[in-house]
Amino acid sequence: RHSADLFGVEESLNELTQLADTAGLMVVGSTYQKLVSPNSRTYIGSGKVAEIKSAIHALGVETVIFDDELSAGQLRNLEKAFGGDVRVCDRTALILDIFNQRAATHEAALQVALAQMEYQLPRLTKMWTHLERQSGGQVKGMGEKQIEVDKRILRTQIGVLKKELESVRKHRKQYRNQRLSVPVPVVSLVGYTNAGKSTLLNQLTGANVLAEDQLFATLDPTTRRVQMKNGKEFLLTDTVGFIQKLPTTVVAAFRATLEEISESSLLVHVVDISHPLAEQQIEAVDRVLSELDVSSIPRLMVWNKVDKVSNPDIIRLEAEKRDDVVCISALSGQGLNDFCGAIQEKLKDSMVWVEALIP
Ligand code: GDP
Repeated sequence: RHSADLFGVEESLNELTQLADTAGLMVVGSTYQKLVSPNSRTYIGSGKVAEIKSAIHALGVETVIFDDELSAGQLRNLEKAFGGDVRVCDRTALILDIFNQRAATHEAALQVALAQMEYQLPRLTKMWTHLERQSGGQVKGMGEKQIEVDKRILRTQIGVLKKELESVRKHRKQYRNQRLSVPVPVVSLVGYTNAGKSTLLNQLTGANVLAEDQLFATLDPTTRRVQMKNGKEFLLTDTVGFIQKLPTTVVAAFRATLEEISESSLLVHVVDISHPLAEQQIEAVDRVLSELDVSSIPRLMVWNKVDKVSNPDIIRLEAEKRDDVVCISALSGQGLNDFCGAIQEKLKDSMVWVEALIP
């Protein structure tokens, strides 16, 4: 990393570690370097390259992941410098890998494939320059030509995918409109990754959604029907978690997922209040939400994982002072009654709820 932004280098590397863990990799170490600007050839300086290279050999490392996006040239130069079969990738490629592993629906699979192709397009050089090297320069120029051909094929595939995605979205919109005509309010869970959204969904509905200590445990919006003690029902939707540095290619790929939020009756913002950077995470989520067309939708904030904080009483007092905040532990079930009560209260204000449920 070359700059310390909102979250700081170490926090960002922590998140990268969790992402790697989610992708099924075992992280053996991390390091960073302060530079005025990244090295154009290798992103990090030559001393750091040497340091990582010796760690690779000492620890038997197979993959080196960079927290910022690398250019095609940087990827190639780093792989060459590290030698052997060491794979070099960046945060974007890692996130796309995870999305690829987790894509559960046709739409998600299309979104991921599209994002992967768009990511590959400017990085296509690699394979063919390898080929040129292997042939001892015999096919010089061939590589260039082949890259052009490949890029054209890839662009055509991207076009086809975009059309297919558009048609899938249209159908989903129809489905959504039908669903809206059914008089049941939709409550969307939004929040930072690992905040505990799927755990909450599980607790409330007995739904079989993944809940692991992994980022992106839920990729696609998962909707469940929740019945409350008064017999009233609402649909609870889980959304993919926000992360601090969502690459633009990935943002585009998840537009449809985010679009879904704009049709909810209520947004429940789930916060991991035990996280040292909870405040910043709240801001990050709010920032993304403010970019979506959701300002008119009522909101409820949930401070989750109160079982994990060292000062639960102070946290509770703090929550009481503020409007629209409920403390819960999705894991132990603590506070879930209050949570349902708050939802009920919020939905009372919603015309959909009143008109729909008074026969
Ligand atoms: P999501 O990414 O927002 O869907 O988060 P998950 O529901 O997958 O939860 C992430 C991790 O936090 C999992 O290991 C959960 O077991 C854990 N977790 C969720 N809720 C709580 C809670 O209330 N207390 C504690 N201690 N852990 C929780």
